Amino acid sequence: MKILVINCGSSSVKYQLLDMDEEKVLAKGLCERIGTKGGRFKYTPYHQGAVVWEKFIPDHKSAVEMVLRALSHEKYGVVNSIDAIKGIGHRIVHGGEYISQSVIIDGKVKEVINICTELAPLHNPANLMGIKACEELMPDIPMVGVFDTAFHQTIPAYAYLYGIPYKLYEKYKIRKYGFHGISHKYVAARAAEILGRPLDNLKTVSCHLGNGASVCAIKNGQSVDTSMGFTPLAGLVMGTRCGDIDPAIAAYLMKKENLTVEELEDVLNKQSGVFGLSGISNDFRDIENAQIKNDPQANLTMEVFSYSVSKYIAQYAMAMDGMDALIFTAGLGQNSYIVRQDICTNLKSLGVEIDKEKNRYCTDAQIISRQESQVCTMMIPTDEELAIARETKALLLNQKHCAGLAAV
Ligand code: AMP
Repeated sequence: MKILVINCGSSSVKYQLLDMDEEKVLAKGLCERIGTKGGRFKYTPYHQGAVVWEKFIPDHKSAVEMVLRALSHEKYGVVNSIDAIKGIGHRIVHGGEYISQSVIIDGKVKEVINICTELAPLHNPANLMGIKACEELMPDIPMVGVFDTAFHQTIPAYAYLYGIPYKLYEKYKIRKYGFHGISHKYVAARAAEILGRPLDNLKTVSCHLGNGASVCAIKNGQSVDTSMGFTPLAGLVMGTRCGDIDPAIAAYLMKKENLTVEELEDVLNKQSGVFGLSGISNDFRDIENAQIKNDPQANLTMEVFSYSVSKYIAQYAMAMDGMDALIFTAGLGQNSYIVRQDICTNLKSLGVEIDKEKNRYCTDAQIISRQESQVCTMMIPTDEELAIARETKALLLNQKHCAGLAAV
């Protein structure tokens, strides 16, 4: 069963075609700078190197059209015809309180995505554009929406409510939603597999550490808390995002620096985090290189980052009354043994004992803690596309129509 996975941003379409009988990637790529100068289409089929076309891509429909042409291309194609595609899985950012699991996309689901645009103004409209493009180009192929927020809908009210007037929650739905749900769910299931233990009897803390970063507490397979909040700005110090700060800082800064709302948002989202703290870069590789040269600001930045991650892990171990497994994933979590080591060193008193050699040299999913460590610590590469394709396949085979959709 061949499944096309589509991840639309406001000016990009990331895609992957998978053969789900063998869970094999047939082709993948990215269309960038849609609607602006410098359009770029990258396509990598499994049997040969990447092909890049540089041309103006007017809109998302043209981008998806290019994807379909490449997939069935005489020379570079991986399928004879687009009819070979049996389902499309869309990554959708926000499903609000309506969506608690993946759903087959129909009119109601599109309405929900549209309603949730208020909560994700940059992402949900782009996701809808991707759905519309696929509908127009492949009207007979069923589509599934896999939501970043859905996994976190099991977080209890005492953890998702903020200490603001309850009527503001009722009026504007201001609460914690959490993000990176597809990734957290995927790596938690992989951890259970690796440990040979049932997921529904495991207390796991998953650290998705990339340019955006979040920690999630997963008890018996369900998300019970996560560090991102109403928006992906909350929680950890990230590449360019500030994470948790005293909310009074916002008004203070606006007054002191004479900032507009948009300027303040720019400071907190794009000029803060590791980038703002270090003054070097938002890329952790650059910070680590500066650390090698003993740059004091780089050292301090990494201390702040590791401390912010460790604090969340400790909180979540407490929230679950223990922690069996600790997972590191995403760009930084998978690739930086130094960051993993620093974080784990902070967690000694919780029974985290890392094996320095295993941690240093791990390249694929594996346990990196010592045998006697109370907490089994793992590095597990995330694979959100595979997770989306699996959900799409399962839903299409079972046709559990709209099981995860609450009344709109
Ligand atoms: P992601 O958002 O998951 O693609 O992760 C991107 C982040 O991972 C960037 O900030 C990268 O600097 C970081 N990253 C990727 N590879 C490495 C590496 N080898 N060492 C340190 N950080 C890395």
